Amino acid sequence: MSNATELIHSIPVDPLTGSISVPIYQTSTFVQDAPGVNKGYDYARSNNPTRETLENIIAKLEGGVKTSAFASGLAAIDAVVKLLQSGDEILAVDDIYGGAFRLFTHIYAKFGIKVNYVDTTDVANVLDAITPNTKLIWLESPTNPTLKISDIAGIAKIAKQYGILLCVDNTFASPVLQQPIKLGADLVVHSATKYLGGHSDLIAGLVVSATQELGDQIKFIQNASGAILSPNDSWLIIRGVETLHLRMQEHCRNAEKVATFLVQHPVIDKVYYPGLISHSNHHIAAKQQSGFGGIISFTLKNDTEEAAKQVVCNTKLFKLAESLGGIKSLLCHPANMTHKSIPAEKRRAAGVSDSLIRLSIGLEHADDLIRDIEQALNKVTELAASENIAAFQ
Ligand SMILES: *Cc1c(COP(=O)(O)O)cnc(C)c1O
Repeated sequence: MSNATELIHSIPVDPLTGSISVPIYQTSTFVQDAPGVNKGYDYARSNNPTRETLENIIAKLEGGVKTSAFASGLAAIDAVVKLLQSGDEILAVDDIYGGAFRLFTHIYAKFGIKVNYVDTTDVANVLDAITPNTKLIWLESPTNPTLKISDIAGIAKIAKQYGILLCVDNTFASPVLQQPIKLGADLVVHSATKYLGGHSDLIAGLVVSATQELGDQIKFIQNASGAILSPNDSWLIIRGVETLHLRMQEHCRNAEKVATFLVQHPVIDKVYYPGLISHSNHHIAAKQQSGFGGIISFTLKNDTEEAAKQVVCNTKLFKLAESLGGIKSLLCHPANMTHKSIPAEKRRAAGVSDSLIRLSIGLEHADDLIRDIEQALNKVTELAASENIAAFQ
């Protein structure tokens, strides 16, 4: 059976009524026949049938054993860090999502958890950075926003050898393009706010575990801490997942066309897209992903915030907003938006320069997107021209 068919039919028909759409159980509690005798549900923080259906679909999609659905991607990340104890260390990819950096640095540092940021695109760097206290390796691949690719299978081998947990933030690829558990990861997290939801209409997170034991630990942490996903939002993600295959194919196709256009534009310096042969880890992306995704970043030859602003304030179809993975194309300026919480030198060292712009390629026609970005890029040329005039005056 094809993956698309399998995915669509992993969404169950309701056994009670035959409803082809998953029912939304909008309830806080479940009536018991006698104390402790129930139909598998007692209180909706612990479990809810709508949320459980979503969790089962995602576990299957990621090739994992158990999934827990959270109120946000960051709540999902938070639950994974809670597997650790004071004194433990995290070895994390340096080009990390800004919110994860904030959580690690400003919350967990207070509880005695240290984080070591490493360029994980070279497996040797991971090996060098492991200490006796390293208990968790944290990868994103591709990363946000410079689309760095790490060799998940290679790093998983090292993690196994040292008895370290490997967690991969799979938000950018989605389980349709990449399944980290099949490459050896122990845990996968998602901001389901992005591709899984797919319509920019909710905030949600997921943790998928490769083993029952880890899955039970995450579930315990979730019930103890309480950041669960609501039944309504669980249903919306199920609805999003129904078209995930179709959407990811089109996001990839559109992004490849836009990236090909960007590389030849004269005001552009670098284009970051794993599908380009010029991408430094293109071969690893090609090995571990079945498509290169819908996110592209680029920098300008005029590497200033002013030039970037000329672009991001002049597109019409690309809307200026944080977030990604929806049907409408978005663009953002990480230095001033998603990555503002990272100190400037650290941000630049990780490749997020002042002019870097991130595109989330939506499902509009590629030609329209190219025309839109082209007319905005031309504004940078005009900016340069007017600066030259000013210099002569
Ligand atoms: C958005 C995002 C998150 C955070 O998810 P929220 O749902 O916004 O809490 C984590 N990781 C990556 C890669 C993201 O893009």
